[in-house]
Amino acid sequence: MKIMKFGGTSVGKPERMHQVKDLITRDNEKKIVVLSALSGTTNALVSISDALAAAKKDLAKERIDALHQHYLDFYKALLKTEASRSKAEKIIKEHFEFLNIILKISFNEAISRDILAQGELLSTKLFYTLLQELDIPAVFLPALDFMSIDENSEPELKKISERLKVILGNYPEDRIFVTQGYICKNHRNEVDNLKRGGSDYSASLIGAAVSADVVEIWTDIDGMHNNDPRVVNKTRPIAQLSFDEAAELAYFGAKILHPASIWPAQQYNIPVKLLNTMEPDALGTTITKKEMGTGVKALAAKDGITAIKIKSTRMLLAYGFLRKVFEVFEKYKTSIDMITTSEVAVSVTIDDLSHLDEIVKELEGYGLVEVDKNQTIISIVGNLIAESKGTLAKVMNSLAGIPIRMVSYGGSRHNVSLLVEAQYKNEALQSLNEGLFEW
Ligand code: ASP
Ligand code: MG
Repeated sequence: MKIMKFGGTSVGKPERMHQVKDLITRDNEKKIVVLSALSGTTNALVSISDALAAAKKDLAKERIDALHQHYLDFYKALLKTEASRSKAEKIIKEHFEFLNIILKISFNEAISRDILAQGELLSTKLFYTLLQELDIPAVFLPALDFMSIDENSEPELKKISERLKVILGNYPEDRIFVTQGYICKNHRNEVDNLKRGGSDYSASLIGAAVSADVVEIWTDIDGMHNNDPRVVNKTRPIAQLSFDEAAELAYFGAKILHPASIWPAQQYNIPVKLLNTMEPDALGTTITKKEMGTGVKALAAKDGITAIKIKSTRMLLAYGFLRKVFEVFEKYKTSIDMITTSEVAVSVTIDDLSHLDEIVKELEGYGLVEVDKNQTIISIVGNLIAESKGTLAKVMNSLAGIPIRMVSYGGSRHNVSLLVEAQYKNEALQSLNEGLFEW
């Protein structure tokens, strides 16, 4: 069994959806096809939900109508026969009637999540209609029948696996299963989701749940690149990464893969491949547990970082200071990315500012607090970085002209992280690109 996940751009145009159909019928392997919403749809649904939350019903209605029109154009270009077109019309009608009913009732959080779920429901149903039109045997597998999260919004992998095995057991002969990424049920049995970009996470959870041979993530780029192609002038795809390396890259800014999607694959040792819908035979990136090569493989950057420094003369020779500091962040459920310490001060970085004021106020009980906003973490990722000679020297030489606020080295064998002011990000990525890689 393999999992094939296609992102929004891979299903976002009728001709792209036809390509997806070609890709899933290239071999006769058993597969679960996981689809995102058509590109732009989730954003549109978010904006509809935002308009409703702000009680701007006219604006919401306008946005619903625009999205509706998009789907009416889409299905006509996707499907040929009268029979399948009328099926698609019914599907679209059902989902937009739902959105229009919501306009009339009072808005709440649960309804907002219902709205967000419409994108994946529409994309999978339309794709399934295409398969039916072309007489390609497939089974429609509603994600809401098996995908679930607990009261902490954590996926219930064991239950997901049990449910999926029962469902799949009903179709021993079938080869193609189509399901939604992103959406799930929560502990109150309401429709919920795995957060933006969560279709990758769905694919990897499903892969772990059925012990798949491989999880293929199909996008519109030829794998994970060694630097950010939007920022630097040359990059290349990386053929192989370990789970740990991929997790660092995904977390620290490589947009191609949702960071949470690494752990299920890593825990159940299922290879993940990043492949390109436009160039299906290109190598892409393979992520496995194997750690290969030494030295730097890639750079990534994470924006929107805030550094907080707590300075205390009482930290000198005292124990328990760090625990007190960390407890403040724990209390406000704010996770820390980087830490550096000196004998009298500790600096940490966070990206979630929702409780910044409360955090600073409590930290002031322990020492002098300084906050620097608009920082960027530059993450240098590879294998055995701390053990490979000269890497840090090259990093520092490349960044000779840039002020560095924090350095984190040796926390893992896979990563050196630097904190710079956001205005230096592009220059830092470009200089490191030249200083660390052979071109
Ligand atoms: N459609 C959802 C989003 O845009 C989930 C995904 O595509 O991964 O965030
Ligand atoms: Mg994505």
